[in-house]
This record gives sequence, C-alpha cells and structure tokens, in this order.
Amino acid sequence: MNAALKPTIPESTLDPEQLALLARLTSGLSPAALYWIAAYSAGQAARLQAPLPAAAPAAAAGERLSIVYGSQTGNARRVAEQLAARAEAAGLPVRLLRAGAYPVRELAQERHLVVVISSQGDGDPPDDAIGFFEFITGKRAPRLPQTKFAVLGLGDSSYPKYCAVSRVLDARLAELGATRFAELGEADVDFEQVSTRWAEHAVETAREALGASAAPAHAVAALHAVGAVPLARSHTREKPFPAAVLENQRIVSRGSERDVRHIELSLEGSGLRYEVGDALGVWPENSPRLVEQWLTELKLDGGAEIEHDGRRLPLSRWLGHERELTRLTRSLVVAQAEAGGHGELTRLLQPAHKEDFAALLASHQPIDLLRRFPARWEPAQLVATLRPMTPRLYSIASSPLLVGPDEVHLTVAVVEYTAHGSAHEGAASAFLAAAGDEARVPVFIEPNERFRLPADGSRDVIMIGPGTGVAPFRAFVQQRQATAASGRNWLFFGNRHFQHDFLYQLEWQQALASGALSRLELAFSRDASHKTYVQHRLREHGRELYGWLREGAHLYVCGDSAHMARDVHEALLDIAARHGGLSAEDAAGWLAELMQQGRYARDVY
Ligand code: NAP
Repeated sequence: MNAALKPTIPESTLDPEQLALLARLTSGLSPAALYWIAAYSAGQAARLQAPLPAAAPAAAAGERLSIVYGSQTGNARRVAEQLAARAEAAGLPVRLLRAGAYPVRELAQERHLVVVISSQGDGDPPDDAIGFFEFITGKRAPRLPQTKFAVLGLGDSSYPKYCAVSRVLDARLAELGATRFAELGEADVDFEQVSTRWAEHAVETAREALGASAAPAHAVAALHAVGAVPLARSHTREKPFPAAVLENQRIVSRGSERDVRHIELSLEGSGLRYEVGDALGVWPENSPRLVEQWLTELKLDGGAEIEHDGRRLPLSRWLGHERELTRLTRSLVVAQAEAGGHGELTRLLQPAHKEDFAALLASHQPIDLLRRFPARWEPAQLVATLRPMTPRLYSIASSPLLVGPDEVHLTVAVVEYTAHGSAHEGAASAFLAAAGDEARVPVFIEPNERFRLPADGSRDVIMIGPGTGVAPFRAFVQQRQATAASGRNWLFFGNRHFQHDFLYQLEWQQALASGALSRLELAFSRDASHKTYVQHRLREHGRELYGWLREGAHLYVCGDSAHMARDVHEALLDIAARHGGLSAEDAAGWLAELMQQGRYARDVY
C-alpha cells in the first residue's frame, strides 16, 4: 500500500494479550466481517457512553474490584464473569483477569481482590494459574496489609483434596496480612447455587466497602479487561443448540479392544462459532436401559410426577435427562448409607478409610452401590439427592477454516466395560456413540484461550496427544494448512496397537505427504512385551526437541492428566537437563516460563 494512503491508526490501549486475541479473532475475516466488528464495537462504546480513551478515567487500584480466575474447564471462568457482571451492575469498577494474565507485581497495590479458582484432581491449580498460585504461596509474595480479599473455590467433593487450592490461597492471603471481606466459599461439581449465593454476598460486601469511592458505571468500560470477546452468543451452556449428526463413524478396526468414534455435527443455524483449541460442550442423556435398571432396582414408577426446584417432571425424565446416574459421589454414598443403615458404608466415609473410599468411588457406578447396599428411596428424595447432570467437554477435532464454520468434529472413546457382573457405560460417550441420523445432540462452545496456536504462523509447533488426546491436533494441523502457516508441525501420537488403534492414520499420512505435517512420532504401547509411550519418543528425540523449543517452538499436550501429562512433564524436565545442561531447578523454571508465555499449553483432564 502507498504510504500516503495508509490509514492513521491511533495507538492501541489494549495490552499485548488482548492485541493477540484480537489478531486471532480477525485473521482471515472478510472486509464485510471486519466492518461489522468495527460497527459492533462502536455501538458497544456508545451504549456504555465510554469517553474517548484519553478521557477515560482508569480507576486506581484502590477504587476497583479485581477479580482473578483460574479455570481448567471453564467453570471458574464462567463464575468469575458472572461475578464481574453482577459487580458492574452494582456500579463497581471491575477488572477481570485470568490468573495466567495477572501481573503479579501489581498484587501489593490491590485493595479489593477476589479469586475464583478450581482445584484439579490431586489438589493442583489449573495450568493457567500455576504461576499465580506459586507466586502467592512463594517467598517473593509481598505483604498485603491494605488488601481486602475473598476466595471462592470450585472442586469435586469426591476427591480427598477437595478445594485444596482455594483453601491454601485463602490461608496464605491472610498470612500475608490481607483481610477477608467474605469467607472462603467452596462450590462442588454442581456449583451454580453456591457460587451465585457467594457472589451476591461478595458483591454486596465489596459495594459497602467501595461504595463511596466507586467510579461511575460508565468508567467501567475502560477497565473491562475480560479475556472473552463480547459477541452475543445465541446458544450457551444453559441454552444448548440441538446439533444434527452428520457422521458417526468407528475409527478403530474391528480387532480393537475399544470403540473410538469420529463424530461430525452440524452447527448450521446456531450462530455458534469456534476456534481451534476450543472444546465442544455436550449435554448427554442417560441411556433408557440404565434408567430402567434404576427404576427396577428401586421399585419406583417412572411415570410418577415429581416436583423439585419449582419443576414438575416424570421421574423417568428426571433420571434420563436431569440427573447424573453414572458418576458415584460422596453425597450419594452418605445418603445411601443412611437410607439403608449400612454400617460398612458409614465406616468407609471416615477419614481413616480414605483410600478404601477412593477405591469404592473408582470401581462403582451408582447402580452398583444400589445393588450392593440396597435401600428404600422416596422418588422426591432421590431426585433431590442425585447430582444434577453436567455437560462433558470434548476437544474439537476440526478447523472451521477447513471444514467450514457450520461443522464441528469430535473424537470420542466409548467408555464401556463389565463390572460387578453387569455391563456399564459412560453417559456422554455412549449417548454420542448411539446418536444416529435422526438424533440431535445438545451442544455449546467452551472457549479455551489457553490452548491456541501461535499467532505467528512461522513458529514451529510440537503436539503430544496419545489416544483421543490427538483430537485438537487434527484441528491444529488443518488450521495450519488452511492458513498456509510456514512453521513446522511435529506430532507425537500413541495408542494401544498399530494395527487397530492408529486414529486418523490415513489423514496423517496425507498430511506428511503434503507437508502439512512435518514429522510424526508413534508409540504403540501394547505391540511389544514392554510398553512404549509418547514420552519415550520425546526422550529419543530430546536433542532436536530441545532445539525446536530453544528456537521458539510452541508445545502442546492433550489427553489424560492423571498419568500421561505428568510423565510427559517429567520427560521434558529430563530433556532440558540432558540437552540444555540445566539443573533440576532451572529446568523446572524454564518449563514454568514456557507455560507463562503460553508456549507450553495443556488440555488435560
Ligand atoms: P488411553 O487408551 O487411556 O491411552 C492412550 C495411550 O496412552 C495408550 O497407548 C496407553 O497405553 C497410553 N498410556 C497409558 N499410560 C500412559 C502414560 N502414563 N503416559 C503416556 N502414555 C500412556 O487413551 P484414551 O482413552 O483415548 O483417552 C485419552 C485421555 O484423554 C482420556 O483421559 C480423556 O479424558 C482425555 N482427553 C480427551 C479429550 C477428547 O477430546 N477426547 C480431550 C482432552 C483429554 P496403555 O493403555 O497400553 O498403558
């Protein structure tokens, strides 16, 4: 473009992360779409009466409420966003940030700080919050005598280290001299009620404290640093879109020990848009067979109308659509022990039997418990006790640039096994596996800002995804191809047997041939007498891998969090020590730094 014709663009007030987000959002859009976004933003600004940037008074740290969230699956993010909206509606100036983007050097200036954070399986913080958590719990954390704070934890009470991260943060902030303005909140898997009540209370208390100094509501716009783009979403978690099934294909051979499906769904007419790295939320239905088993076991009538929480539905509908029937929880064990007067169960609930209790949860579905420890249940009491159904998240396996924006693909391992003498299924995978041409799958998009390809297409990319963990990397490779990204793409894939379980084999071979994939390393674990896993391949290629990372490559891991992701992390530490000559401490620091920079991202659960 002729320099004289270049439009003058005022200096941006966005931070680098927001700029990168904007660049990703707008890359590849048509001029019409770009003008639409410009008009939309102008409308938003006008609605909020936001003065020009220069005139917008940024509330000082003392006058605002900072809300920081650490989220692995999006729940803590959603709660934090709702809290921020509630606080804004109450006239409070709000700054909302994900923990990974929080500038920890500003901590000492905070006057009102809210942390919403989840705890992962073994009491670990979400990946994105590791740096934030370590800073606050570490030696460098400043004294905080002027800070008022409140912590809300999200967790799963069936795990022994329930809400461990929020408990540690709450205690640590107090230890640093900060004062609680709301008691520590703890929300279980069905978090909505608790989190809503907690948020109401926290906002009310913050409003009282900030009331006099709170900036006028229109200044909020200048502080609104939510990581999400303010697009109106037609369909949400609460209002999912009924997606038609375009394809439901088994992608392992007949000889495989398991069933894995490639599923294509239509988003046509939904208004939903996704990016590679995002997940698709699926609201499952329990299988009619399982509902029947429950009714038979408990001698209850599926047609009986049951009222709960202001809704009246037949019991079979409650059990089929509204309640978790495949995940055993602590609260159900407690209720079952009481209802049936089972001393053996009550004993397991005591702290001394923690391990036996964990083993019970891992080896039994609720139906097994009903059969082993019979009890009489009133239908209304059953509906009130069972945990509400929760959606499952699947990493999206397609790029909208390659398959079109109205299609979304998933890779689903079907959970099915025999235990306690009967067949068992996973709720969502069985629901998806059974979805035929006529079926509608209720879905929504769960954005995953932590798991994005580099904005700079010339960067190299290393992807580690055994089993169905390979799903997002199919999307990544498609996207890199569609955007003609010049960086190299290196995939590490592992599964049980080469012959049976080589997911998307043909596609990878074509990608290698076309250059869309630069390298493919394979680890089939059950083809030899000794196990070979992806981390063995990482170590074998450690020198080159370290070289790629030194040159700026981005590394991604997707799949099982309990074992694989930990072992891969260990392998990366070893590689840094061996090929970079780093001490154990420096290697850990190096990986933490990569994570902080968004160059080591994980999508694991
Ligand atoms: P899987 O069968 O459990 O495992 C795949 C391969 O990994 C097998 O060869 C397995 O070997 C091997 N493996 C076992 N332990 C390992 C370890 N410690 N380190 C490295 N490799 C190991 O895989 P899957 O059932 O397909 O599930 C993958 C996981 O990804 C699940 O936990 C799922 O929740 C998670 N996930 C899935 C998605 C998705 O969108 N589908 C997204 C994110 C996460 P052996 O079995 O022979 O030991």
